[in-house]
Amino acid sequence: MNRKTFLKSLAVLPLTAATMKLYELSKMTEPLSNTDKMPVLFLGHGSPMNAIEENEFVAGFRNIAKEIPKPNAILCISAHWETSGTFVTAMQNPSTIHDFGGFPKELFAVQYPAPGSPDLAKETKALVKKTKVGLDDQWGLDHGAWSVIKHLYPNADVPVIQMSLDYNKPAQYHYELAQEIKSLREKGVLVIGSGNIVHNLRMVAWDKLNASEYGYDWAIEASEKMKKFILDSDHDPLINYRSQGKSFDLAIPTPEHYLPLLYSLALKEKNEQVSIFNDKAIGGSLTMTSVRIG
Ligand code: ZN
Repeated sequence: MNRKTFLKSLAVLPLTAATMKLYELSKMTEPLSNTDKMPVLFLGHGSPMNAIEENEFVAGFRNIAKEIPKPNAILCISAHWETSGTFVTAMQNPSTIHDFGGFPKELFAVQYPAPGSPDLAKETKALVKKTKVGLDDQWGLDHGAWSVIKHLYPNADVPVIQMSLDYNKPAQYHYELAQEIKSLREKGVLVIGSGNIVHNLRMVAWDKLNASEYGYDWAIEASEKMKKFILDSDHDPLINYRSQGKSFDLAIPTPEHYLPLLYSLALKEKNEQVSIFNDKAIGGSLTMTSVRIG
């Protein structure tokens, strides 16, 4: 039954809790329909504690969700899922992965029971020609995804899939791969890159982690340059980040928290608006800077 006939038959049924549940289910399982072009986000996720703390950053996540249309589904590229080859999660019910240690038990108790979307996983796989995308049934939602998405959609009522980062590949490859999934934006899919564009855990000033707006000189320099490139849509220097000097080398000691930004930028169309929010440094060597495209 397609959605139209389903809705027609629904109209003649008494509206009970059971039929409402069925309707919700049909919304979640139907193939993705065409929509206006969805915005794209890059979210600076920072500490996993943001999942359970109240602060200006989580307020920023909540606000951005209010500003954009509610998506049919989310595809998240998280810094915390690196693989050899590219995979998408394809299970119906992804589990909440607590992929960290040394945090309070309240954080380990968090569950984010958003459904998956095997349909979106298959559609993504079909779109990507650059490589053979694997359908994964082992991963789930890591904290790069759930610690931020739970603030956007606290009712866990939007299906979420993740796409992994192939750790064998250079930045240009990731950027080009992301361009192949552009059409998902017209299916109501919200693509979220989740990482941190300045992220050097070895140099964190732990005593200043709660002091908002504290950044080392090199972190501020890298952040200002990155933001200018982002806002000017000058993506080449961001892709060639290893040629941008010492401040970039310190800001990006390893690529996994930075590459999700390139996935988000690659989905930008010419003339689309770009804006920045949650733009603060914390702990000296991290920035929470987040980006909205479209
Ligand atoms: Zn992280």
